[in-house]
Amino acid sequence: MRLVLLGPPGAGKGTQAVRLAASYGVPHIATGDIFREKVRGGTPLGREAQAYMDRGELVPDDVVIRMVADRLDQEDAANGFLLDGFPRTVPQALELERILAERGAKVDAVLRFVVDEAELHQRIARRAHEEGRSDDTAEVLSNRLAEYREKTAPLESFYAERGLLHDVDAVGEVDQVTARACNALAELGFPAPDDLGVGSELS
Ligand code: AMP
Repeated sequence: MRLVLLGPPGAGKGTQAVRLAASYGVPHIATGDIFREKVRGGTPLGREAQAYMDRGELVPDDVVIRMVADRLDQEDAANGFLLDGFPRTVPQALELERILAERGAKVDAVLRFVVDEAELHQRIARRAHEEGRSDDTAEVLSNRLAEYREKTAPLESFYAERGLLHDVDAVGEVDQVTARACNALAELGFPAPDDLGVGSELS
């Protein structure tokens, strides 16, 4: 299963990604997490990325693409993965297609986590308070949302045109949203794992 998760900051993508990856037994590849790790490690890539991250801007495509290409070449990603936070621009999506085609593979599905903006602002404020993420301040958040609208939202039609885009209502309890995502995947031919109590909510 080669899966891409799409959704604005605060949609709960990361939480769902961890659960889905564990349940379906594929690696969770989150570019934001990889960047944060490199920032902590003080690597040159980390230093380059940090300035963008702190402003809530996207890191340049070439930097991200190189990093993801390396990650996808690791053995654990050979038979599937769940991408969280990548691609975030059309050039990244095109490059992902190219990288996978070279390996005789393709994206199987894109799940878009749908939440309205008022709810997003509330969630982000809560997360800033709970986790103290430096990129969760009001100003940085509004940059992140603007970047999403301008650069990432075009991926919705990109993947819709390819027949890969599937919406998941991301408002509700975490378990409920996971069940909806699993139901969407089951409809696509990926049987839901047993450990999530899927089926408790009708899709
Ligand atoms: P995230 O944890 O996915 O919200 O990512 C945190 C930050 O890392 C983003 O605001 C960007 O600065 C950077 N980042 C993560 N993934 C990407 C990507 N695919 N393209 C560009 N920048 C990214």
